[in-house]
Amino acid sequence: ALRKLIAGNWKMNGTRASLAEVAAIEAAATAAGHVDVALCPPFTLIDAMMQAADTVVIGGQDCHHAVKGAHTGCVSAAMLADLGASHVIVGHSERRTDNGETDDLVRAKAEATIAAGLIAIVCVGETEAERDAGRAGVVVGDQLDGSLPPAATARQLVVAYEPVWAIGTGRTPSCDDVAEMHGMIRAKLLAILGEEGVGVRILYGGSVKPDNAAELLAIADVDGALVGGCSLTAAQFVPIIEAAA
Ligand code: 13P
Repeated sequence: ALRKLIAGNWKMNGTRASLAEVAAIEAAATAAGHVDVALCPPFTLIDAMMQAADTVVIGGQDCHHAVKGAHTGCVSAAMLADLGASHVIVGHSERRTDNGETDDLVRAKAEATIAAGLIAIVCVGETEAERDAGRAGVVVGDQLDGSLPPAATARQLVVAYEPVWAIGTGRTPSCDDVAEMHGMIRAKLLAILGEEGVGVRILYGGSVKPDNAAELLAIADVDGALVGGCSLTAAQFVPIIEAAA
């Protein structure tokens, strides 16, 4: 089994006061030993969170696909690297929906992330309507074909499977459905990346909580979790880290 990665996505949450959560998360990450822990706060908190964290690595939630230039309001992967960040989430469903991000753009962002020396966490996942129509596997497969940089190595890439209907809803797919999807994603990774696909971690995301983390993390090819709401407080995030250790 691959070393697990538990990543927290704070989304548009958190001010400097929220940094008070980091010390206990840092302590849990250090105690856990056999698990990698990442926090992806808003851009405004990355620098300060870097100072507060050591074992916990820091990531951005998005980046522009260019290194620099006339793109008002945007942040590049090179800028995140400059702060000491190590990961960038790209293609989160909220960005695909709210900002109209296409697979082509997500792939460009993943390539920019890797070019900056960072690890791209590429997100994929079907909507409820797509699952109900029996199309979840096809949709996710197409997203992987379109969004993954084909030359990426296992160290440069993480995939997060986040069914849109499970995000922030308290609902999760059955363990069988997660196992089936993660197995399909592994096969796709091998088809796209060859041997490197063996070592790419596949995270599950969508309503991961302290009381379902252990069973989700025990599923084959679930190499960690991408956690939204329950990553905002140490009280909820620490038990999830412990479930992976
Ligand atoms: P929740 O854990 O709040 O469902 O969010 C999942 C997610 O979108 C993480 O990127």
